[in-house]
Amino acid sequence: MSFTRPILIAGAGIGGLSLALLLARKGVSTVLVERALRIEEVGAGIQLSPNASRILDRLGLGPALDEAGVQPARIRLIDGKTGTPLTQIPLGFDAERRWGAPYRLIHRAALQQILASAVQKADIDLRLGTELVDCAATAKGVVAHLRSPNIDESFGAGALVGADGVRSSVRTGMGDANVGFSGQIAWRATVHLPTALEANVWLGPGAHLVTYPIDRNGMLNMVAVTRGNEASGGWSQTGSRAELMSWFASWSPQVRRLLEAADTWLTWPLYNGRPAKIGEGRVTLIGDAAHPVLPHLAQGAGLAIEDAAVLAARLEEFPDDPATAFRAYENERASRTAAVQNASRRNGEIFRLSGAAAFARDTVLRVLGPERLMARYDWVYGYRAR
Ligand SMILES: Cc1cc2nc3c(=O)[nH]c(=O)nc-3n(C[C@H](O)[C@H](O)[C@H](O)COP(=O)(O)OP(=O)(O)OC[C@H]3O[C@@H](n4cnc5c(N)ncnc54)[C@H](O)[C@@H]3O)c2cc1C
Repeated sequence: MSFTRPILIAGAGIGGLSLALLLARKGVSTVLVERALRIEEVGAGIQLSPNASRILDRLGLGPALDEAGVQPARIRLIDGKTGTPLTQIPLGFDAERRWGAPYRLIHRAALQQILASAVQKADIDLRLGTELVDCAATAKGVVAHLRSPNIDESFGAGALVGADGVRSSVRTGMGDANVGFSGQIAWRATVHLPTALEANVWLGPGAHLVTYPIDRNGMLNMVAVTRGNEASGGWSQTGSRAELMSWFASWSPQVRRLLEAADTWLTWPLYNGRPAKIGEGRVTLIGDAAHPVLPHLAQGAGLAIEDAAVLAARLEEFPDDPATAFRAYENERASRTAAVQNASRRNGEIFRLSGAAAFARDTVLRVLGPERLMARYDWVYGYRAR
């Protein structure tokens, strides 16, 4: 491609790292700036569904992901009050056969490390401890104000991609600081508790719990979702276990034992916003910066990786014109990201039904059966970036 100046990517999360790798493959040089001094992640797991795995596998990362993570045999949906299994979505070999790539569970830190070492091997200019403060458009690109512990500099780039997460400075710079708090908070913990190779979603009134192994050494990831307010469910703060247990007071002993197994729970406010605009001129957004999504379909990182693949493809298509490439990318992604956001929100509502509505849900789940349930996810997991 013929960009004379590099593309600046703000944020080396899953989206930013994936984009830098995908662009390196197309010969586009990038500078990736990350505010944190180290590439590291909160101690928690992540589900990588086939739509995301397909792109990471194309980058040659499949073997490393399989070495560090696991491929679950199924996702089971369970009545959280009684502990009765309702149905299951077959994964493992069935997922790979149906959707063309594996469904994986992995520790976030391991995923970040795998992406970061691939970035290092590809000789990508990754600048840790460097924050994008703001940026201004010029005739031929952007000038970004970068700040690191020792220097403030003006950096000229051909274009800017904000991969800087839910609280994106790039999005704020385009006038949209509000990201839409959902009224829900996630409680996250990991604990050494060997279990079967499967993800379990425990459904119940007003709350739900997701548990899954993230390695072969018995590390279990747990995410509980309850209502909460943005301030009390602070960003990665330690939550009160007593408060968490109060949401699950009348649930099955199995669920309560799982929750009691973890000493520390971190809380995260959950967002579900749709910014007024995700790009202008030679600036665009990917991942949570563009479309924060509730985790009830486990698709936020998947969408960020898909965004990266589509954006890289459009930049390849319009090599001399990043603004056109960015608008094409934004148009292409709008309906997909909105559909996943909506489906994630709906999933959460369905997980937390009570009374007659919960009874109807359980009946439908039983009647549908595994094969028809799998078919319902074809549009999510079968997605292929053009
Ligand atoms: C409880 C929970 C469970 C989830 N489970 C799943 C799951 O199972 N599967 C899934 O696919 N998704 C899941 N997600 C969603 C997923 O974690 C996110 O969607 C994904 O991490 C977003 O990646 P990103 O690269 O867009 O942003 P981030 O991961 O937030 O990365 C943004 C990066 O930008 C940096 N940064 C911020 N501002 C600046 C700046 N001004 N200058 C430089 N750097 C900056 C930050 O330090 C950070 O490193 C879950 C989310 C939650 C909350």
